[in-house]
Amino acid sequence: MDNFIRDKLAEKNILFLDSAMGTMLQREGLTDSEKCGELWNVEPDGRKTILKIHRANVAAGSDIIIANTFGSNPRKLAHYGLEGRTEELNRAAVEIALEAADGRAVVCGDLGPSGEILEEWGGNVSRQVITDAYARQVEGLVRGGAGMVALETFMDVEELLCALKAVRDVAGEIPVLGSMTFNKTPGGMKTMWGISPTEVARRLEAEGVQAVGANCGMGSEDMLLVTAEMALATKLPVAAQPNAGAPQVIDGATVFQESAEQMAGYTPRFKEAGVLLLGGCCGSTPEYICAARKTLGL
Ligand SMILES: [Zn+2]
Repeated sequence: MDNFIRDKLAEKNILFLDSAMGTMLQREGLTDSEKCGELWNVEPDGRKTILKIHRANVAAGSDIIIANTFGSNPRKLAHYGLEGRTEELNRAAVEIALEAADGRAVVCGDLGPSGEILEEWGGNVSRQVITDAYARQVEGLVRGGAGMVALETFMDVEELLCALKAVRDVAGEIPVLGSMTFNKTPGGMKTMWGISPTEVARRLEAEGVQAVGANCGMGSEDMLLVTAEMALATKLPVAAQPNAGAPQVIDGATVFQESAEQMAGYTPRFKEAGVLLLGGCCGSTPEYICAARKTLGL
């Protein structure tokens, strides 16, 4: 199924992902700590809000929209006593996104970090436990009808591979984007576990994902360096989802201050660097997708 992303790329040259769901949910009143954003997938008002956000991204020109399931793995849902509703929350999220896409965009399920540390790094969960947890999430995504799956914001490549195994066990050869978060260090761009973009791209390619990339953690300037390095290291399509600049804390709240136009200004450079899937992470809005497309005359 490599070919769904490649076929689309052959048609369009570059594919647009969407903008940050979390940012939009906060704007719509979701607070950081008190509520689980994925619960909105099954609440009438929340459902309407999520539908509206997805529709704004589709209208802005997103080719792929990402369902509201970033944190809906059972390990995270357990913090809210919701782990028993894993399949339901994931299925509902995909159904909302499919309704919003209305055939104009591919709906991608979203798997984020489990919030746990693998026991091989001194944490207390085994690979099997984490893989089984993700499998329950993927079950819901598949029942909902997801056309691809993004593994996003991972800091530990081994945890990402547990998620990938769960996808392959449950959903077979569905296209997968494997995307990790990097930090700028004195030794170059690295994941929190000290792995370079080149190493990540090669490892994930060898493990059989259909696209690799980076998201979150940094604005466009640094993200360009990460994804340009990846593009040199792999034959797979590379995805970039930068934040709207570096995070700043103002009055105790984390804000991202780059405007949609400022972010969009980097689009031609991403394209030159070989990035084939472009979207936005924290602080980005549908206006960014629209502005980014405009810089390419789309
Ligand atoms: Zn982010």
